[in-house]
Amino acid sequence: MNITVALNRLEKKGYKNTRKRERMLKIFIKENRYLSAKGIFKLIVEDYPYLSVDTIYRNIKIFEELDIIESTELSGEKHYRFKCSSDHHHHIICTDCGAVEKIEMCPMDAITDTPEGFTITHHKFEIYGYCDECRSL
Ligand SMILES: [Zn+2]
Ligand SMILES: [Zn+2]
Ligand SMILES: [Zn+2]
Repeated sequence: MNITVALNRLEKKGYKNTRKRERMLKIFIKENRYLSAKGIFKLIVEDYPYLSVDTIYRNIKIFEELDIIESTELSGEKHYRFKCSSDHHHHIICTDCGAVEKIEMCPMDAITDTPEGFTITHHKFEIYGYCDECRSL
């Protein structure tokens, strides 16, 4: 995913390219880690002091529907990041700051005993821990 694709996708679905929306996308790109709605709010509120958390939630919902962002749950709260567009891979995620590292191998390759008659369509696999920076705090 990149900003051009994201903006095109929004436009195609009839969503106006608002500056707030674009700012949110740029935050996702710049941060390159999982952020909660409140986390995004904190980063954007300096530029848009009258922005409501509701606006953030509304845009997040749109981004999710259009497959622009992906989500995971950290500390019992939903977090979001700009969706990777490269080949199939998995992530190791810092539960503290939401930083993401890529894992190239897929554990599904090792699973050979799937139940007979069951058609697998997709899977989700994430590893959690602390990044170098958060571990030393
Ligand atoms: Zn990735
Ligand atoms: Zn971290
Ligand atoms: Zn996989």
